[in-house]
Amino acid sequence: MTFTGIVRQVDRLGRIVIPKKLRQALGLKELTDPIEIYLNGNDIILKKFRSDSPVSGDLRCLDKFGRIVIPIAVRERLNIESQKDSLEIYCENDNIILRKFEPVCIFCGESEKLTSFKGKKICAGCINELTR
Ligand SMILES: [Zn+2]
Repeated sequence: MTFTGIVRQVDRLGRIVIPKKLRQALGLKELTDPIEIYLNGNDIILKKFRSDSPVSGDLRCLDKFGRIVIPIAVRERLNIESQKDSLEIYCENDNIILRKFEPVCIFCGESEKLTSFKGKKICAGCINELTR
Protein backbone atom coordinates (compact mmCIF):
# COMPACT_ATOMS: atom_id res chain seq x y z
CA MET A 1 0.00 0.00 0.00
CA THR A 2 1.32 3.41 -0.86
CA PHE A 3 0.06 6.49 0.78
CA THR A 4 1.48 9.84 -0.07
CA GLY A 5 1.57 13.47 0.48
CA ILE A 6 -0.74 14.30 3.35
CA VAL A 7 0.55 17.40 5.09
CA ARG A 8 -0.26 18.06 8.73
CA GLN A 9 0.94 20.77 11.04
CA VAL A 10 2.76 19.99 14.27
CA ASP A 11 0.58 21.24 17.14
CA ARG A 12 1.73 23.30 20.12
CA LEU A 13 2.70 20.20 22.09
CA GLY A 14 4.75 18.75 19.27
CA ARG A 15 2.10 16.26 18.23
CA ILE A 16 0.95 15.26 14.79
CA VAL A 17 -2.26 13.52 13.77
CA ILE A 18 -1.76 10.27 11.93
CA PRO A 19 -4.58 10.06 9.34
CA LYS A 20 -7.26 7.57 10.30
CA LYS A 21 -7.02 5.70 6.99
CA LEU A 22 -3.35 5.09 7.62
CA ARG A 23 -3.90 3.98 11.22
CA GLN A 24 -6.49 1.51 10.01
CA ALA A 25 -4.34 0.23 7.16
CA LEU A 26 -1.46 -0.48 9.54
CA GLY A 27 -3.72 -1.84 12.27
CA LEU A 28 -2.57 0.72 14.82
CA LYS A 29 -4.87 1.01 17.80
CA GLU A 30 -5.00 4.25 19.72
CA LEU A 31 -3.75 4.13 23.33
CA THR A 32 -2.63 0.51 23.23
CA ASP A 33 -0.21 -0.17 20.39
CA PRO A 34 3.32 1.06 21.07
CA ILE A 35 5.04 2.69 18.13
CA GLU A 36 8.77 2.99 17.75
CA ILE A 37 10.00 6.40 16.61
CA TYR A 38 13.44 6.97 15.20
CA LEU A 39 15.31 9.16 12.79
CA ASN A 40 16.68 7.96 9.49
CA GLY A 41 18.55 10.85 7.92
CA ASN A 42 15.94 13.59 7.69
CA ASP A 43 13.03 11.18 7.90
CA ILE A 44 11.14 10.36 11.06
CA ILE A 45 10.16 6.70 10.96
CA LEU A 46 7.17 5.39 12.90
CA LYS A 47 7.09 1.64 13.14
CA LYS A 48 4.61 -0.61 14.87
CA PHE A 49 6.48 -2.11 17.79
CA ARG A 50 7.04 -5.85 17.70
CA SER A 51 8.36 -7.46 20.86
CA ASP A 52 10.52 -9.88 18.89
CA SER A 53 12.71 -7.19 17.36
CA PRO A 54 15.23 -4.90 19.06
CA VAL A 55 14.13 -1.37 19.84
CA SER A 56 16.08 1.37 18.11
CA GLY A 57 14.12 4.43 19.16
CA ASP A 58 11.57 5.91 21.53
CA LEU A 59 8.34 4.02 22.20
CA ARG A 60 5.12 6.02 22.13
CA CYS A 61 1.42 5.29 21.77
CA LEU A 62 -1.13 7.20 19.76
CA ASP A 63 -3.49 9.17 21.96
CA LYS A 64 -7.24 8.69 21.63
CA PHE A 65 -7.38 11.21 18.79
CA GLY A 66 -4.70 9.39 16.82
CA ARG A 67 -1.98 11.88 17.60
CA ILE A 68 1.59 11.00 18.42
CA VAL A 69 4.14 13.14 20.23
CA ILE A 70 7.30 13.63 18.24
CA PRO A 71 10.18 13.39 20.72
CA ILE A 72 11.71 16.77 21.45
CA ALA A 73 15.19 15.53 20.51
CA VAL A 74 13.88 14.64 17.05
CA ARG A 75 12.13 18.00 16.67
CA GLU A 76 15.28 19.85 17.69
CA ARG A 77 17.43 17.83 15.35
CA LEU A 78 15.20 18.56 12.34
CA ASN A 79 14.46 22.10 13.46
CA ILE A 80 10.70 21.48 13.60
CA GLU A 81 8.80 24.27 15.32
CA SER A 82 5.49 23.59 17.03
CA GLN A 83 2.47 25.35 15.48
CA LYS A 84 4.58 26.50 12.57
CA ASP A 85 6.11 23.62 10.67
CA SER A 86 4.25 20.87 8.89
CA LEU A 87 5.17 17.32 8.11
CA GLU A 88 4.39 15.30 5.05
CA ILE A 89 3.14 11.82 5.85
CA TYR A 90 4.04 8.80 3.76
CA CYS A 91 3.67 5.08 4.16
CA GLU A 92 6.30 2.59 3.07
CA ASN A 93 6.58 -1.10 3.90
CA ASP A 94 4.26 -0.84 6.91
CA ASN A 95 6.21 2.11 8.27
CA ILE A 96 4.97 5.65 8.51
CA ILE A 97 7.46 8.23 7.34
CA LEU A 98 7.24 11.85 8.40
CA ARG A 99 9.24 14.34 6.43
CA LYS A 100 9.52 18.04 7.13
CA PHE A 101 7.38 19.85 4.61
CA GLU A 102 9.20 22.65 2.84
CA PRO A 103 6.79 24.70 0.78
CA VAL A 104 8.04 25.81 -2.65
CA CYS A 105 6.82 28.18 -5.33
CA ILE A 106 4.27 26.42 -7.58
CA PHE A 107 5.86 27.97 -10.67
CA CYS A 108 9.60 27.66 -10.20
CA GLY A 109 10.23 25.57 -7.07
CA GLU A 110 11.93 28.39 -5.16
CA SER A 111 11.66 28.07 -1.36
CA GLU A 112 12.58 31.62 -0.31
CA LYS A 113 10.37 34.71 -0.03
CA LEU A 114 7.08 32.88 -0.50
CA THR A 115 3.66 34.50 -0.45
CA SER A 116 0.38 32.60 -0.17
CA PHE A 117 -2.22 33.24 -2.82
CA LYS A 118 -5.46 31.24 -2.77
CA GLY A 119 -3.73 28.47 -0.88
CA LYS A 120 -0.73 28.25 -3.24
CA LYS A 121 2.79 29.51 -2.67
CA ILE A 122 4.37 31.95 -5.05
CA CYS A 123 7.85 33.42 -4.76
CA ALA A 124 8.71 37.11 -4.98
CA GLY A 125 10.43 36.62 -8.35
CA CYS A 126 7.37 35.02 -9.97
CA ILE A 127 5.08 37.68 -8.50
CA ASN A 128 7.31 40.26 -10.17
CA GLU A 129 7.07 38.49 -13.50
CA LEU A 130 3.31 38.11 -13.21
CA THR A 131 2.72 41.75 -12.46
CA ARG A 132 5.08 43.06 -15.10
ZN1 LIG B 1 8.66 31.27 -8.33
